[in-house]
Amino acid sequence: MSTIDRIEIQIRCPNGPQRLFMKLLSTGERPTVVPDLNLMELACSDCARQMKKTDKDIFRVLHRYAIDGSLVESVIVWIDETETVIGGFE
Ligand SMILES: [Zn+2]
Repeated sequence: MSTIDRIEIQIRCPNGPQRLFMKLLSTGERPTVVPDLNLMELACSDCARQMKKTDKDIFRVLHRYAIDGSLVESVIVWIDETETVIGGFE
């Protein structure tokens, strides 16, 4: 069994019930973050379902995270495939 101490960083939806997308396991060294490079993008069905109630033209909602797990921005993708950045909710 490994004796390496790891810290856990949870990647969650910033909104509503805050669905857990994934966990990052780290030995403690924070990864180097270069702004706007190497973002992780996750489609969120919870936000899409909620926002479609008021706007039927929404196709999906994406959350983008830096590699240290911090939320960078959220994006609405419309059914015509254009995107609108709506910020990070935080
Ligand atoms: Zn979400």
